[in-house]
This record gives sequence, structure tokens and C-alpha cells, in this order.
Amino acid sequence: MGTLPSIQFDDTKVAFSYKSDRELKKANFIFSVVNNPTVSKIATRLAKVSLSLGLPIKSIIRATVFEHFCGGETVEESEKTIEKLARFHVGTILDYSVEGEKDEAGFDKTTQEILATFDEAKKSTSVPFCVFKVTGLGAMDLLEKVQAKATLSEEEKGAFEKVKHRVDQICKKAFDTQVPVLVDAEDSWIQNPIDALAYEMMQKYNAQKTIVFNTYQMYRADMLGNLRNAFHEAAMHNYFLGVKMVRGAYMEKEAERAAKLGYPNPIHPGKEATDDAFNKGLAFCIDNKQRISLVCGSHNEYSNQYLTVLMNKHSMQNTDSRVWFAQLLGMSDNISFNLAKAGYNVAKYVPYGPVESVMPYLLRRASENTSVAGQSSRELTLIRKELKRRKG
Ligand SMILES: Cc1cc2nc3c(=O)[nH]c(=O)nc-3n(C[C@H](O)[C@H](O)[C@H](O)COP(=O)(O)OP(=O)(O)OC[C@H]3O[C@@H](n4cnc5c(N)ncnc54)[C@H](O)[C@@H]3O)c2cc1C
Repeated sequence: MGTLPSIQFDDTKVAFSYKSDRELKKANFIFSVVNNPTVSKIATRLAKVSLSLGLPIKSIIRATVFEHFCGGETVEESEKTIEKLARFHVGTILDYSVEGEKDEAGFDKTTQEILATFDEAKKSTSVPFCVFKVTGLGAMDLLEKVQAKATLSEEEKGAFEKVKHRVDQICKKAFDTQVPVLVDAEDSWIQNPIDALAYEMMQKYNAQKTIVFNTYQMYRADMLGNLRNAFHEAAMHNYFLGVKMVRGAYMEKEAERAAKLGYPNPIHPGKEATDDAFNKGLAFCIDNKQRISLVCGSHNEYSNQYLTVLMNKHSMQNTDSRVWFAQLLGMSDNISFNLAKAGYNVAKYVPYGPVESVMPYLLRRASENTSVAGQSSRELTLIRKELKRRKG
């Protein structure tokens, strides 16, 4: 066997070359705050209360966490970020991150907003995917009822038809513009209808190539089996399977609900089991690359390195269009920029939307960087290493 590739993820000069000294110092401040559980808790509480009381905190949020983790309030405002990332061969996945719309008008507005991201992608060479969440297009409790097979009222039946129509509009737009679309994964108690919709769309639009991708949360104990079943279904019906693989973002919520309602927690009993499932999932996708396209959505260095090793073992080019590496804007730049420099396909989720509406997303990033052992201190270590290097 030849020498296996090894990407240096700790090259901070490459990782942060797109950040000015001022931006890097700000990143240092933000990660220092979120890294400390007590300070983070107080800051998050303060932000929530101030926003609900209408206190003028928006400009502070905008100039700090929002600027770090988001492209802007609109697609146009995000163009600067798109160009900046593109200079380093990193693509942008425009993510309209407004959550919690409650009525049909709000869901229609979100649909239009997402449809517009395809136009932006079409005119740019640096936007390789678009993305959406089904809860942006329909009510959470409706999806929960559909999954529980509860009897729906006539109004609810109509509302669910509208959700299906919105999903189809978006996937058709993806097909027409030939810009692939990622369907995000959400809570396990609403995920079945999301999966069903995603597979219906794949059957419709993935006959020639992968246009629609579903998301697989490998922290769920049943997910490796689900992935294998999805592959067999795709083979049976002769379409390409789009896999976005993630570990999963809603672990605490899943555990809480399972304990409250008295059913077994669907999440693996420990991090190691999640990691093992994730890496086995990557191997399964590469083994079946003739039918599977993969977006590896992860900040885990081992998994990203492992995927490069798998590609090499299968004699795939770094640029093979069936494999993408994806991270979130403002996180794990060491992974994104070093992979891109080595020629791999890399893209960042770039969330955008009005500051208040993006708050749930920002709060998830804050809590993720506080509660997940290792990650935030890793970010901080890298940022501080680069600050020191620049000082000389
Ligand atoms: C591009 C991109 C797209 C994403 N899209 C989605 C999405 O659609 N849906 C979604 O849910 N998430 C999504 N995420 C978030 C993702 O699921 C993870 O929360 C986040 O990336 C952290 O996991 P990691 O692979 O980066 O690695 P790590 O930091 O190594 O792993 C942390 C993750 O491991 C798991 N874990 C931690 N402790 C335990 C434990 N005790 N037992 C079991 N499992 C544990 C959890 O999933 C936790 O988030 C996305 C992330 C990226 C980068």
C-alpha cells in the first residue's frame, strides 16, 4: 500500500488566512465567552431577556456572534462572505436560518426565500448546494401528528399537503437549476415524515444524478440500519442516494423527551458509539460510491481525516464530485481551509436572516461549544496559536 495522505489540521496560518487580526481577536473573545459554562449561561440568558424586552441589544449581537457565525441578514449581505470563502476555494451553502415561523404566510415566505437561494447559487460558481429545514415550511406539531399517525382534521390535512407542495417546489427548483439541495435532519419525533418526503423527492429528481440529499444523524442508534435500508431502496428503485452525514445536534432534547414520556432514548449510549457509527457510515458510503454522493458535515478531525484515507484507499481523486466536506461558518476553519488547500471539495454552511430570527441557531452554537467536551477549547487553542504566530 502507498503512503496514506495526512492533512495537517493544525496549520493555523492556512486556517485563518481569511480573517483579519481584528476578526481573529473578536473570535478569541467569543469563544472565550461561550467556552465558560457560567459566563455563557449568563450571556445567553441576558440576550434572550433583552431581546424579549425590546432592549437595544441587537447591535451588540450583530457585531459579535452574528458577525462571526452568519453571512448577514439577507442573501445580498452574505455575498461578501461568499466571495471571501471562495478566494480560498471554500464554497458556501446558503442557509436561511429563520426558525419558528408559525403560520401559512410565514411558511410561504420561507419557501420563497429558499427558492431565491437557488438563483444566487445559479449565478455564482461558489455556492455548490442549497439547504432547508422542513420545520421552516410547516408546523412542528403537524409533523409530530403525522409521525404519530394521529387522525388529522381537514384543515391539518390541507396544511400537510401544502408542506409537501413546498418541499416539491424547492426540490424541483434544485432539479431545474441543477443545484443540489440538502434536507436537514431534525428531532426524531418528526423525522419520519421528513425522511418520507426526502425519499419521494429522490425518486422523482435523482434518476440521472444526485440532486436531493437527506441527512443521517449517526447519534441515533437505528441510523446505520436506516442508511443501509435507504441504499437498498435507492438501488431497488434505481435512483442516486444523496447522504449528508452528521452526528446530530439535539442530543439533550432527545434524552429529555424520552425520559419524560418513558420510552428508550433513541441516542447511542455514549460518544464512542456515535463516533463508531459515523465512521462506519462514511465507509459504507464510499464502498457504495457508484450510487451514493456524500456530504460529510462534521467538525471532528478524526472523521474528516478518515474520509480522506477512505477516498485514497478507493483511488478517488481529492476533487471527486461525489464527496464533499462541510463545516459551519465560524467553526473548524482549520479543517475547512486545510482540506480545501489539499484540493478536496469543501463548503461552509453560511446562515443568514434577521438577527432575532437567527437567535435559536446562535444559541445552539453557543451551547454546543459549551457542552460538547473538547470542541470549544480546540477552537480557542487554535485561535490563540494563530494570534501568537501573527505577533511573531
Ligand atoms: C455542515 C453541517 C450540517 C449539519 N446539519 C445538521 C442537521 O441537519 N441536523 C442535525 O441534527 N445536526 C446537524 N449538524 C450538527 C451536527 O449534528 C453536530 O451537532 C456537530 O457537527 C457536532 O458533531 P461533530 O461531528 O462535528 O463532532 P464531535 O464534536 O466530535 O461530536 C459531537 C457530537 O457527538 C455526539 N455525542 C456527544 N456526546 C455524546 C454521547 N454522550 N452519546 C452519544 N452521542 C454523543 C452528538 O451528536 C454531538 O453533537 C450539522 C453540522 C455541520 C457541520
